[in-house]
Amino acid sequence: MATNLPPCVISNRDPVSVLMEHGQTREVTVDFTECTRTGPAHNSRFHTAALVNGKRFAEGHGTSKKNAKKIAAELALDRLYKVASRNLSGANELVADRIENNEDENANDEPLSPAQKIKAMAKGVFELAEETQMIYYCKEKVVASFLMERCGQITVVALGTGNRSVLYQNLKTDGTCILQAHAEIVARRSFIRFLYNELNRFIDCETDAIFTLGTSGRLQLLDSVKFHLYISRPPCGDASAFPTIGSKDVRSKALRKQGVLRTLVADGEGAIPTDSILPAGHNGEERLRVMTCSDKICRWNVVGVQGALLSHLIEPIYLSKVVIGSYSGDQKEHVPRALFGRLQTGTLEEKIYNPYVVNEPSLYYPEDHDLDNYALNKSRQYSVVWTLGDDGVEVIDGIFGIKISGPTDMPYSAISKKHFFTLFHELCQKFGRRDLLGKSYLQIKDKASEYRRNQDVLYQHFVSKKLGTWCSVSENYDVDNFYL
Ligand SMILES: [Zn+2]
Repeated sequence: MATNLPPCVISNRDPVSVLMEHGQTREVTVDFTECTRTGPAHNSRFHTAALVNGKRFAEGHGTSKKNAKKIAAELALDRLYKVASRNLSGANELVADRIENNEDENANDEPLSPAQKIKAMAKGVFELAEETQMIYYCKEKVVASFLMERCGQITVVALGTGNRSVLYQNLKTDGTCILQAHAEIVARRSFIRFLYNELNRFIDCETDAIFTLGTSGRLQLLDSVKFHLYISRPPCGDASAFPTIGSKDVRSKALRKQGVLRTLVADGEGAIPTDSILPAGHNGEERLRVMTCSDKICRWNVVGVQGALLSHLIEPIYLSKVVIGSYSGDQKEHVPRALFGRLQTGTLEEKIYNPYVVNEPSLYYPEDHDLDNYALNKSRQYSVVWTLGDDGVEVIDGIFGIKISGPTDMPYSAISKKHFFTLFHELCQKFGRRDLLGKSYLQIKDKASEYRRNQDVLYQHFVSKKLGTWCSVSENYDVDNFYL
C-alpha cells in the first residue's frame, strides 16, 4: 500500500529486529536501556528507550516489557526515517558538500576527474536514498543514475537499482505493471518523470527551466544542459555476456555471437539471443522475454531517452557521457560495441531521419573501480527508484512489477506507464494539444510517427547486420492498450 511510513511498518515486520538489522548493515550500535516498571503490580507500566550509537533515540511505554521495547523501536525507526527523508530532499547539496570537503582535506590529491565526480555523486545520493528504506532492499547494489550537467555543476536527477523483471503470471495490461526492474531501466523511467516535472516548470515560466522552444515547434534542451548515465557495472546482455577468460577457441566461438540482440528470461538462463528458441519453463509455463539493458541503451542512442510519448512534445534527448563504475576482466572491450559500436557499421546513420541521430556518448571508467562491492549472488527482488524532488524512495517488487511503498499516495508506481500517461494528458491540455487527448496509450505511441519510423530503421539495421530481431513485450502482449 502506498504510504510514507518506513517500509518495515508496512510489511508488518517486527520493528525490534528491523532496528537491529538497520544497526548491523550500517555499522551503528543499537541498544535498549534496561526496562523499568512503575505502578501497582496489577496495573504496571513498563518503560525502555532505544539507543542509537549510545544516544537516547526514542522512549517506549507499554503494558509489558516486550510491548515497551516494540514501541521504542517503532518510534526510533520513524525518527530515523524522517531524518533520512529530510536528507534525501537535499541529497545533491549534501553529497556535493561532502565531495568538496573531501577535496579540501586532501589538498595534495588531484581534483576529481569528471567521471570520478559523476560516480561520487551517484553513489552518494544512492547511499542517502538507501537510508530511507531502513532495511536493505537491494543487497546487490546494481545502481544506475541519470545526472544533469549544467554550467559545470553535476546533479543527480534520477536513480534506480535492481536486476529483476516481472514474471509472466504477474503481467498486467492496465499500465500499472513495471515490466523490467533493472537499475538502468527504472533509472531511465525516473529520468522521464524528471522530464515531466521540468516540462511543467517550463509551462510555469520558471526562470531556470531547462527547455526552450525549438524551431520544429517542439521544446528542446538548452545547449548548456547535458545528461549523463552512471551504471555501477556493465549492463546485462552484449556488454557482459562473454567469458572474460578463455582459450582462443572459446573466444573465436564467442566472436560470432558478439553484438547480437539478447533477451532475458525472468527465471533466468542468462541473456539469450532473440533469434534462439526459448527453452521450455519448468512447468511448461509461458515465460516473458525482455530485451537486455545493453540493447535498450543502444536503442536510446538512436531514438533518444525521452520515449515515444514525450517525442510528441520535445526533441529527442541523447546521453553525453556514460560512466561505468566497475567491470571485470575484459568486459571493458565489449561495452563500446554493445552500447553504440553496433550502430556504426553500414549505412544506419544515412537512413535515420532528422532530428534523430546516431549518438555516440563518451565512455568513462573511473580508475578507482571496486567490483567487490557489487556481488550479485544475494540480490533481492526489490528495486529502489528516486527522482529529484522526491523526499523518499519508491520500492518496487521486480517479480510482481508492483509498487510496495513510496513517497506518493498513488496505488501504483510513479514510474508506471499509467502514471506517465496521466502526466502526458495533463501536459497536452496545458500545451493545447487536443489532437493527443482521448486516445489509448497504444494509439499515442503509434501516433509518434517520427519516433516509430526511426525505431523501425534501427530494427531493420539489426536484422540486416544479422544481429537478430528486436523482441518487444508490448508487441507480443497487450500491455499498451489501455485508456486513462
Ligand atoms: Zn539489465
